Amino acid sequence: MIAFDYKRAQSIGEALQACAERPGARFIAGGTNLLDLMKIEVETPRHLVDIGGLDLRTIEETPEGGLRIGALVTNAELAASPLVRSRYAVLSRALLAGASGQLRNKATTAGNLLQRTRCYYFYDTATACNKRELGSGCSAVGGFNRIMAILGTSEHCIASHPSDMAVAMRLLDAEVETIAVAGERRAHTLDELYRLPGDTPNIENTLEAGELVLAVTLPPPPRGQQLYRKVRDRASYAFALVSVAAIVSVENEKIMNAALAFGGVGTMPWRDRDAEAMLIGETPSQELFERVAEAILSGARSSGGNDFKIPLLRRTLIASLVQLTEGAK
Ligand code: SF4
Repeated sequence: MIAFDYKRAQSIGEALQACAERPGARFIAGGTNLLDLMKIEVETPRHLVDIGGLDLRTIEETPEGGLRIGALVTNAELAASPLVRSRYAVLSRALLAGASGQLRNKATTAGNLLQRTRCYYFYDTATACNKRELGSGCSAVGGFNRIMAILGTSEHCIASHPSDMAVAMRLLDAEVETIAVAGERRAHTLDELYRLPGDTPNIENTLEAGELVLAVTLPPPPRGQQLYRKVRDRASYAFALVSVAAIVSVENEKIMNAALAFGGVGTMPWRDRDAEAMLIGETPSQELFERVAEAILSGARSSGGNDFKIPLLRRTLIASLVQLTEGAK
């Protein structure tokens, strides 16, 4: 591990200032991803600014009827919150489907959103990886790529985004509230926050250096039943091969509202609003669900070892839609 210095910030202002004074400094809180990456020298910050003691750990109702979740609320606290369980069950289920109990006790809301891929080659500094070292190549293309993405990929990177929580957050139209080094406050939808790999897979989001996440805001939950279905190699402590987060409401045998998001298949938590629109006003049917799945998969590109994800996503989505619309009148 490369030597680094460490400062524990006592306030947001102190955290921003510490970061501004130390070029290349990184914020740390739970450390469940960053410390692993530092141990194997995939990440080599010379300065760590510990924000774990900041007052960013509350879950509050907003005047609009949504929730404001502090950046340092742990995954375990968020999953167990009565407000989340009763109104955003899809988020609670996604959180509980992720990682392990020990990790959920340490991992934070902001850290979960910004965690890095689990591509094997990204963690192996003896191999080529454009995300780790731009221009070195991508060992996963033509390599062992069973867990890689099929949506949003480029010839330079096919790594999947690992988060379950972020899939539910994207489904729920979460907005990330940040403060930049100069004090400017910004709001990023998840559509805006994440970047496709393109030819710069090393740049994963639109945050500036030293920009600190303060909270994540959820609008009021949309009408409808909520579901998070995760397919993985083990029953726990395994990343998604495919996951589906969905909210669907049916009235008078017609679908009135539909939101769909996917994990394990995209280079970012994936959402396809055009495909969602295909469901609105329609009568639920197998044929309709198959058309929607085809639309979502029309841009899919697999790499050999992950070819199975295309039929697996189709089947998981259709089964989820059947479950959410079965018997609904
Ligand atoms: Fe690196 Fe992305 Fe290729 Fe994995 S898929 S080796 S993270 S460039």
